[in-house]
Amino acid sequence: MTTVMESIIKKTMENLQKNNIKPFYVEKKEDVLPLIRTLVNEGDTVSNGGSVTLKQTGVMDELKSGRYNYLDRSREGITPEEIEQVYRDTYSADVYFASSNAITESGYLYNVDGNSNRVSAILYGPKSVVLVCGYNKIVKDLDEAVKRVKTCAAPPNTVRLNCETYCAEKGSCVSMNIDGGEYCDGCHSKDRICCNFVISAQQRHIDRIKVIIVGEELGY
Ligand code: SF4
Repeated sequence: MTTVMESIIKKTMENLQKNNIKPFYVEKKEDVLPLIRTLVNEGDTVSNGGSVTLKQTGVMDELKSGRYNYLDRSREGITPEEIEQVYRDTYSADVYFASSNAITESGYLYNVDGNSNRVSAILYGPKSVVLVCGYNKIVKDLDEAVKRVKTCAAPPNTVRLNCETYCAEKGSCVSMNIDGGEYCDGCHSKDRICCNFVISAQQRHIDRIKVIIVGEELGY
């Protein structure tokens, strides 16, 4: 990691703290689980948003380990009605795990969601929210955050989720071709995953949201 990147991470963490979002830093993805275990108690009710980063860091296996009351929406044979109930029960969870699509150097979180169970749980409901993010999620400002989602995050996620969208085929959002477009411009596919665009700034509930920045590239 370069000295410049180290100072960007430091600045981002200081600004997250100013926004009442508790920052942590670990060097390697193997360091994430020991830290996570200090932020959740055995027997807690836990849930998660869809995240490649949570898989890469072993958090998904930890949630399913039996140490916690895991609200599992991907278990075999689950019905659409039961998945809906998991989403609703998640609002009463002790700890919610996810990643963030982007973190600005000024300490804002930027998240875009289709079904929006993830962004809604980040905003309100679970007592504690833990977001695990590779340092590649840090961007200079909100303009870069928007661009990051349209070019780096959404395209591979739509491929992963088998969505029929412009970006799944072409590799970036259709809105990148519109001069003078707006942040929320996008495709009109029924599979669109960019429906709600959420910026989390200074939090009223101090340290409810925790951000673990990992000194490796993780997720999309
Ligand atoms: S709006 Fe559609 S094309 Fe644009 S990034 Fe989102 S899913 Fe892809």
